[in-house]
Formats: sequence, C-alpha cells, structure tokens
Amino acid sequence: MKFCSHCSAPLTFKIPAGEDRERFVCERCGTIHYQNPRIIAGCLPLWEGKILLCRRAIEPRYGFWTLPAGFMELGETLDQAAIRETREEACAEVESHGLYTVYSLPHVNQVHIFFRAELIDGRFAPGPESLETRLFEETEIPWDELAFSTVRRTLESFLEDKSRDRFEVKVGDLLPSPVMRQNPTPC
Ligand code: ZN
Repeated sequence: MKFCSHCSAPLTFKIPAGEDRERFVCERCGTIHYQNPRIIAGCLPLWEGKILLCRRAIEPRYGFWTLPAGFMELGETLDQAAIRETREEACAEVESHGLYTVYSLPHVNQVHIFFRAELIDGRFAPGPESLETRLFEETEIPWDELAFSTVRRTLESFLEDKSRDRFEVKVGDLLPSPVMRQNPTPC
C-alpha cells in the first residue's frame, strides 16, 4: 500500500497514537488504513455420496484440484459466499448443510472456512476459474494433486467423520511447512 485511497497522498508506515503496531497512515487526511485477514469461504459439495472437486484454471496452484472456494465479498453472509463460489467455479447449485471446518493461516493472513453442502439437482460444469469439475468417490480423491492444505484437511476430516457417521465442526490453525516457507504460495 503506497497511496491513500481517500486523498491519493503518499502513506507513512508508523504506529498511530494509541495503537500498538505499525499501520499505513495518511499524513494529509489522517486516515489509518487498517489491514486485516481475508476470509475464504467454500463448500464440500456432495452428490450421491461423491465429492465435487474443481481443477484450478488460475494461479496459485494452476492445474491442482480444490474444493470450490474464494474470497468473501462485501455485503454477503458467509454461507452466501460459499454457495456463490460453488456456483462460480463449478456451475453448481448447492444447499448448505452447515459450517464444517475453520482454519486460521496467519502466515498468509487468511481464514479458510468450508461448509458441507449437497448439490440440488446434480448438475455441475467448469466455471471460468476451473479447467475441469468432477465427482470423486472416496477412493478416487487425488491426494497428491490437491491445491491447498486446508482442502486436504477438510477432505480428511470428512472421510473420518463419514466413517463414524458423526460430523463435527473442526477449528484449527495451519502453519507453514518448511517447504512452504521457501516457496510462499498461499497455504
Ligand atoms: Zn489521505
């Protein structure tokens, strides 16, 4: 962040009076430009017991498989964001079956949140951000080609919960592995 979005003056990075950490401050109009984590909302969509995954047509992780998910927009609720992202990336209409996983990723300043969901009519197709969309049986999940660790953890939790027939909300943190520190792709 270099210039004030209110008055276009150059910004200073400093600790504002009464605060405890550095912020981007506009010396001309006095605006403090707060930066906060971003929320990524998505779905784990099912149809006839199979899991719908999307192969990414965009970076990061082009060509890898993911659950449909993306940045929450202003003015929408969390489950609206998850449902919208599923519509955009997989052209699928889903009904939410409730919050499922919540992961904090402080190293990339993100929170990833997934809902369990069911396709309404079984229809899906790749949206502009997907190369391919496909239903996977449990045994077919492409574990070595998953885009993000939060997707992996959500799928692992789901299969474990499914085997016990008891689904519980999971809340956790995902910190960078040594490999990810060398190559800082998001999560
Ligand atoms: Zn300003």
